[in-house]
Amino acid sequence: MSDEHFDFFVIGGGSGGVRAARIAAGHGAKVGLAEANRLGGTCVNLGCIPKKLFAYAADYGLHLQDARGYGWRTGHRAFDWKTLRDAKDREIARLNGIYETMLKNAGVALHNGHARFVDTHSVAVGEQNVTADTILVATGGHPRLPDIPGREHLVTSDDMFCLAELPDSIVIVGGGYIGVEFARIMLGLGVRVTLIHHGDMVLRGFDMDIRRFVCKELASHGVELILNTEMTGVRRVDERSLTVETDAGRAHTCGLVLAAIGRRPNINGLDPDAANVETNAEGHILVDENHATSARHIYAVGDVSSALQLTPVALAEGHMVADMLFSGKPSRQMDYDCIPTAVFSNPPISAAGLTEEQARARGYDVETYSSRFTPLKHTISGRDERTLMKLVVDRKTHRVLGCHMAGLDAPEIMQGFAVALRLGATKDDFDRTIGIHPTSAEEFVTMRTPDAKRKP
Ligand code: NDP
Repeated sequence: MSDEHFDFFVIGGGSGGVRAARIAAGHGAKVGLAEANRLGGTCVNLGCIPKKLFAYAADYGLHLQDARGYGWRTGHRAFDWKTLRDAKDREIARLNGIYETMLKNAGVALHNGHARFVDTHSVAVGEQNVTADTILVATGGHPRLPDIPGREHLVTSDDMFCLAELPDSIVIVGGGYIGVEFARIMLGLGVRVTLIHHGDMVLRGFDMDIRRFVCKELASHGVELILNTEMTGVRRVDERSLTVETDAGRAHTCGLVLAAIGRRPNINGLDPDAANVETNAEGHILVDENHATSARHIYAVGDVSSALQLTPVALAEGHMVADMLFSGKPSRQMDYDCIPTAVFSNPPISAAGLTEEQARARGYDVETYSSRFTPLKHTISGRDERTLMKLVVDRKTHRVLGCHMAGLDAPEIMQGFAVALRLGATKDDFDRTIGIHPTSAEEFVTMRTPDAKRKP
């Protein structure tokens, strides 16, 4: 065993870990990083990036259909799953290489292997033992499976990215980000989709109007949406088909069952106890507002510690910790208010700030403005897809508290409005802003009449 000592040792080469390592090295620290798998973590390998590429693939199918309304005759259409999957793999391999080059150029020493705490300052990575003054845990998370008979037949989002072939039908269980996104992707690629959700509406945490709208859109686009229903078991019927049993007494036969019921932190084999790092019942590492764990020189960022499992949050947390430890300047604290988010569904959904329900719960006297319309693009495309845009405004100060959209380009539009909300923009500021015409985005600055009196 050879020992090497670092100022900063990062466990996990995903979004949070890579950002922290690069920034710390840039500040002059001697940095090492351990990663057991491919660099880039969930986002690059099994999450945001491949998912968005798949969503683009699904979009192309719809565009080809839309094009007919615009006069294009496109002939016979066929989709080849292996072409998409392999092109995605090549792009991910390219990104893995970029991450490696980036880290090496920054002077970060890469250790390929699974890391395990030996004690509060030592980490074993494979055959090597490293020591460090400060350590960052950024090991991310993994999909969790329900505890039901037949769980061995389920696949998770990890598996969806490398399927040998597309099934002709899929049952997706879970109405969160992954469930709704894969419903859209699979449907767009020609797979028959059933979405089973145990609640009465998908996308908990989003504005109720948006949630209602999304349920309607999913159903009208052809997703069989089954609400208030629990999956109770899965049985293999034959090589190509499975049966999903539910507490509603109905059985659903399909080619694949995707469990998308949330994720758990990656602490298996890490042995946080050996370093006196405390975790909660679900395995999340407990951190304070500076991301320090119960062992003061050990920090944790991203999905392993954060309630908000979003790549940009992990990036910001990693950056913040590296600045705080090595920049020599007072660092800014993370601000978890007003974090914009998006679900790359069909249509896509995006939000910044408070939902109407959250605003009311915080005691605001709320006024809302909303607009529902068919986007210009779909007036003649023939696609039956609508847009919903909504503003949540504090009646007293006119401050815009929340901005919500389900519709074409929602995530691209929301990023800019998130800046306005962060700056404390009021409805009057929105009203004074000249729209860009003709766009959907201009609706956010042209909504003049508050929604009719609503129930508090
Ligand atoms: P989510 O927490 O988003 O959704 C989980 C879904 O499963 C919810 O609808 C939840 O219902 C339901 N659920 C929870 N437990 C059970 C159970 N025992 N049986 C049946 N259903 C259950 O998790 P995902 O797995 O979809 O995604 C994990 C995280 O990854 C997300 O929370 C998000 O932070 C991140 N992510 C972000 C994306 C993006 O930014 N675009 C894309 C994909 C993932 P309910 O909540 O109503 O109880």
